[in-house]
This record gives sequence, C-alpha cells and structure tokens, in this order.
Amino acid sequence: MAGKLLLLFAICRLIVIVGLTLNPTVTDLFRVGIHGKLSVDPHDIKSASMDFGKTTRNEPTAVLHPATADDVAKLVKLAYQSSHGFSVSARGHGHSINGQSQTANGVVIQMSRSGRSPAVPEVCEKKMYVDVWGGELWIDVLKSTLEYGLAPKSWTDYLYLSVGGTLSNAGISGQAFNHGPQISNVHEMDVVTGKGQLLTCSNDKYPELFHSVLGGLGQFGIVTRARIALEPSPQRVRWIRVLYSNFSAFTHDQEYLISLHNKPQSEKFDYIEGFVIVDEGLINNWRSSFFSPKNPVKISSLGAGGNVLYCLEITKNYYDSSNPESIDQEVEGLLKKLNFIPASVFTTDLPYVDFLDRVHKAELKLRSKGLWEVPHPWLNLFVPKSRIPDFDKGVFKGILGNKTSGPILIYPMNKNKWDEKSSVVTPDEDVFYLVALLRSALDNGEETLTLKHLSEENRKILKFCKESNIRVKQYLPHYTTQEEWMEHYGDKWQQIYRKKMEFDPRHILATGQRVFEPRF
Ligand code: FAD
Repeated sequence: MAGKLLLLFAICRLIVIVGLTLNPTVTDLFRVGIHGKLSVDPHDIKSASMDFGKTTRNEPTAVLHPATADDVAKLVKLAYQSSHGFSVSARGHGHSINGQSQTANGVVIQMSRSGRSPAVPEVCEKKMYVDVWGGELWIDVLKSTLEYGLAPKSWTDYLYLSVGGTLSNAGISGQAFNHGPQISNVHEMDVVTGKGQLLTCSNDKYPELFHSVLGGLGQFGIVTRARIALEPSPQRVRWIRVLYSNFSAFTHDQEYLISLHNKPQSEKFDYIEGFVIVDEGLINNWRSSFFSPKNPVKISSLGAGGNVLYCLEITKNYYDSSNPESIDQEVEGLLKKLNFIPASVFTTDLPYVDFLDRVHKAELKLRSKGLWEVPHPWLNLFVPKSRIPDFDKGVFKGILGNKTSGPILIYPMNKNKWDEKSSVVTPDEDVFYLVALLRSALDNGEETLTLKHLSEENRKILKFCKESNIRVKQYLPHYTTQEEWMEHYGDKWQQIYRKKMEFDPRHILATGQRVFEPRF
C-alpha cells in the first residue's frame, strides 16, 4: 500500500514538473537565481490556495519563499517582462476572507518566515522605530520591540497577522481613535512595484507610491520592509467593560470618549471598542471571555426580555512606576461621565502583552473545540456616525434576529486620524463606526448557522444599507466586478486607476482582490 502511494506521489510530482517545464515563465523562474526557495510541493500549494475565510480556493502554480527583498523583485520583474506574463500575489498569513491573497496559475509569494528567513526586526531606540520584514507577524514585532521597552502604538485585535497584510488594508483596533490606523503609523517602506523595481518610499521619497501602497490592497506593490513608529511600552492594563441597553446612550458615550483624543494621557482612555450582545453562547462571544461566572451580575439578567445589549470596552494603560491609586482615580473620573447600567462594571487587570494578545487565547479555545477551522463569512463595514441609529434598528434589531453566529464589534473612529492620501476609503463624515460581523458558519444542523444562511444575511445587510441610503464603505472589501470597485472608490477611482497604470501596468499583483483584470 505504502509503495503504491509513493508511486502515485512520484507520478503527481512528475506531472507538475512537466507542466512547469511547458510553462516558459516558471521554467525561467528556476533560472533566475533566487536565494529563497521556489516550491511546487503539494503542501505549499494547498496552503497558498486557501485562507481564513475558507470559502474561496485558487491554486497557484508555485510558491516562492523569499530570503530577501531582491528575490521578490526578481520574481515580479520576470512576471512583468515575460511575454506570457503571470500573476504574483503576496501572502502574509492568509487571514483574508475571500481569496484576496490567492492567485490562480500564478505564483504566491509566501511572505511569512520560513527556513531561509529574511532580516529580523531592527529597533532604533533613539528615534523610536522598528524596521521589519513585510511578512513579519505583529506578535513577533511586539516581542522584538519589548526587548527595548518599546511597542508599536496602533494595533489590530489579533496579532497573528502580517505587517504587509494589515498595511494593505489599514490595521485597526481600539487605539485607532487616538493614534489612527496602523497605516498612519508608518514612516517608510521598501516596496517592490509591479514592474519589479525595489524602491524605498516615504512622505518625502516617492510619496505617491508610499501613499498608494498604504491601504492599497496589494495593488501597487509588495511591502518588503516597513518602518513602524514606537512608544514606550506600558506594562499593565486596566481593562473595563460596561453594559448598555440603550443604543443611543452607548454611542453617545463612545463618541464622547473618542472626542477626548487631544487631551493629555491621564484624561482619556487608551483603547475604545464595543460590541453587541445578542446571546451568550461561545460562538457568539468568543472574544468576551472575561464575563466569567465569577462576575457579580449575570449578563442575561440585564437584557430585559432578550433585548439586545451593548458593551463598551475600554482600557487604561499604565507603567510599573505609576501610582495605582492615581490610575483608579483616572478611571473613576472618566467612568463617572458615562451612562451605562450602574451594576454592570466588569474590570480586570493584566500585563499589557496579555491584553494585546487576547484574541489568540480565544483562538486556542475555539481550536480545541474544532470551531476555528470553519468557514468565516465575515462582513466589515464603516458606517457614518449620522446613520448608526438606523443601522442599529435595521440590522442589530432587525435582520440579525437573535442568532449572530459570532461577535459583532462596533466602535467609532476619528476621520482626522486617517491620511486622505492613502488608498483607503472611509465614509464622508468626521466620525465613522467600524461594524464587524465576525461570523463562523457551522454545519451542525441549525439552519441559521450555515454558510448559505449567513452569506444571504450579509447580502441582505448590504441591500438594506443601499436601499436606506446609508453610505457604508466595506473594510477588507470584497467585490467581484470592476463597476462595484468603482462605486467603492467613488471620487478616488480615477486616482486608483492612474496609479495602477503607473505602478503595476500589467495588473500582475494581488489579482485575488479582483480590482483589475490581468493584462496577459
Ligand atoms: P493576507 O490575507 O495574506 O493578505 C491580504 C492582502 O494583502 C492580499 O491582497 C495580499 O496580496 C496583500 N499582502 C499581503 N502581504 C503583503 C505585502 N507584504 N505587501 C503587499 N501586499 C501584501 N484587521 C484589522 O484591521 N483589525 C483587526 O482587529 C483584525 N482582526 C482580525 C482577526 C482575525 C482572527 C482575522 C482572521 C483577521 C483580522 N483582521 C483584522 C483582518 C486582517 O487585517 C486582514 O485579513 C489582513 O489582510 C490579514 O493579514 P494577512 O497577513 O493574513 O494578509
């Protein structure tokens, strides 16, 4: 039996190699002289064909594990110059939802670390920045900067994402109201354009490339190095959750708290998020683990008659040298101004790193129950502040019913912390909300949890917004036609198109986003 399997494997490999030999572009690739590894190993191909969403699958011809930025440049140059052309997609950690880092029949560049690792993070203590490889995971960025007592300022909720992957989108979490998204905290980048040029860009050098790549969905270049701004790292975090049954009191308080962004550190929170609570099951609230049974109030007792509850989540960072009493006073002073349900204050205190890495703990819990490797029909929307009450009525209290199938995050951000010159599009108001429906599809016999049902619900939500003229913008957008992309970008489309022509004229890069058709 084992012998037969080996023979089958050998035949499959031969077929792949013959296939590659017939494809001149990839044959050339083997001759280009890269320092990393070009792989047609079925394991590499399989993992590059799938992502966290588990709903889209595209098989590349080969996977490149680069050892240097030059490897990336050589591959892209070959794709650009060859008469046949082929697509090239950078893949960070493959945590996209709809195949954004996949490419059919092209080459996936697996940017995360492998055996032949590119440069390790380099911290400049004096100027408080770190230079990192584009495929570095944020958890590893954090570990390396902590050695110097420093840390990045702006985060995502989950740290097992790559720097290049989040900078291609925006990178947001509860610090964004204050520091802006991660793309507002980058000084400089090395980028390989769609012509295979390796350029260092910043606000001063090749500024157009710099701004295009930030939030650019991988369309204009591949980030091989990013210089990230740092701050002295806090050591501990006071993490507080308070509940609301009244949506307008909840959003009023969130908006008040983010309006304090220009105040001194002691007069504002460091992180502001929130979420919607429809019921208490694990799959609905996997990120809410600290509502433990030890808490004095049972959440369900607060939601009169199964009504929707809203949870405001805030933190105060502090240092070993801080006086704990003054932290208590600062927190109390801020909480006094809020209108939450009085008996609903949940507080915990933990090391800063444990707070930043909180979602990984939830991941391990879900993995142990077989609930992580499932399809994820997530929908992330930026909703203008003026229409968030309509969204609440129509979606949270309407379309969703009482089964959310995953956490629903909701928090506001200040638009002035986003650089208009980046490629991201946000609603046309000073304050807009992220609403993240982080749903897991399960095949356990419950119709409301199936992929089909949840995908249909996402369509209904988008349709509701359109019909109600709620001008949402998708975050981590997913569209299938260029018309939809044109609508998404609105006034920015002409710019996006012009920059694509300039930096990736053959439309080689990140074809999995489906913004532009390849030109070969
Ligand atoms: P991939 O999925 O591998 O790639 C995403 C896109 O970026 C692709 O188009 C790819 O071609 C391109 N790309 C990848 N690397 C590079 C590079 N070096 N240069 C240029 N382009 C590149 N997002 C937030 O903002 N905040 C959150 O709190 C947050 N939490 C998340 C939690 C989980 C559990 C998951 C699964 C996702 C979360 N995300 C969050 C979304 C996440 O930021 C995006 O999915 C991001 O694209 C994932 O990064 P990745 O490294 O896996 O990128």
